[in-house]
Amino acid sequence: MNFPSITTVIGFMSLVGIAQVASAETVRYINGHWFIGEKFEKRDVAVLDGKIVAGRDAVKTVDLRGGYVIPGLAEAHNHNFQNCYLAPQMAQAYLKQGILYSAQLFATDPAGAECAPLFNSGSAPSTAFARIGITSSTGHPIGIARAGAKEAGMDMSFDQLVDGMLIADSVSDLQRKWPHFKTTKTDFVKVILIDEENGLANAKRPELDGFNGVTREVLEALVPLARTAGLRVVAHVDTAADFKLAVQAGVDTIAHLPGYRIAKNRTVKDYQLTEDVVKAAAANAVTVIPTMAASVYHATARPNDASAIAGLYMHNLRLLRKHKVKLLTGSDRFEGSVLDELNALAGTGLFQPVELLEMSTSATAKWMFPQRRVGCLEQGCEASFNVYENDPVKDLARLAKPVLVMKQGAIVARNGKLVKPE
Ligand SMILES: [Zn+2]
Repeated sequence: MNFPSITTVIGFMSLVGIAQVASAETVRYINGHWFIGEKFEKRDVAVLDGKIVAGRDAVKTVDLRGGYVIPGLAEAHNHNFQNCYLAPQMAQAYLKQGILYSAQLFATDPAGAECAPLFNSGSAPSTAFARIGITSSTGHPIGIARAGAKEAGMDMSFDQLVDGMLIADSVSDLQRKWPHFKTTKTDFVKVILIDEENGLANAKRPELDGFNGVTREVLEALVPLARTAGLRVVAHVDTAADFKLAVQAGVDTIAHLPGYRIAKNRTVKDYQLTEDVVKAAAANAVTVIPTMAASVYHATARPNDASAIAGLYMHNLRLLRKHKVKLLTGSDRFEGSVLDELNALAGTGLFQPVELLEMSTSATAKWMFPQRRVGCLEQGCEASFNVYENDPVKDLARLAKPVLVMKQGAIVARNGKLVKPE
């Protein structure tokens, strides 16, 4: 729908006046249904200086005309802002859809720092970065970087390809390089585990060059180093054994669910989590980003595996839910977002829509920015929210089309169009 109703109370000029700039005057939002975790509640909410306040003395009133309000959506696993060239365009697409938080989970390219002004402005989602990324000299994502360089016709040396990454083939490599990396301003440390059980043999297979990860010893040495530096560790995992190793080593977050692909020399069983490991993950408060949307890459390339992949997700997600492991929503889809992940998770039929809403707003935003009052709509929370014409719980597809998007007290998009800064 068009959203002229808010202008009926405050007038168009007033609306323009609050666009992209957090109002220094209290604005009261009336007649909205506000998401309070399990349901919507009809209430009026006031915003001042980018925050939700008690707000008795509102200068302006905005009529939400019965609209539904949720905290901004959050994408927990992506890489599409890591490329400074594409980031502004991608950031705009996210804002239009009310995706107000994003985590970029291997942002080690030194050139990425050029984008800092974008992420410090109101023109991009609040973005958390893994600016420390650790892999082996034959590890992921070097293979992707190499393929990208080749496609672009660039002849890059190994050192150029891994510029900014922490390459550790041994504990001594890690210990030697860590002092240089540990002071990096980062939200997470990302570490790569891919079929660690066979890692040493895989490292010698030319076809896997660029697609392996670190050893158990490197991971086990890394976690205490990161903890001492006050940094959280996010692990990329591939097999069920990798997941188990990550839990045992004490990582904070696991950034994939085994089963998003089935490697050529592997079977379904190698990706099935077991109950004891999932219980340990719950006991250690490990958070998991299933990235179910990313499984489409493998399922499309090898359609014969599609049903096995779907079965693996059902098996693993059921166990995680049974033991109440905290799940976060991230797609790891270059051209996609949290909306793709919500679609994939909803398709399993395992989740209640309100559960997915809570996961993709509150839980994921709080994981990204534990020091901030985000992903909430109470007094004191950042005023970052989306308004929908109709109840999104009744149809999650509605989430893609907010009629109004507010970020830290400033309107950034309306009816799918960005609101230009003043
Ligand atoms: Zn990723």
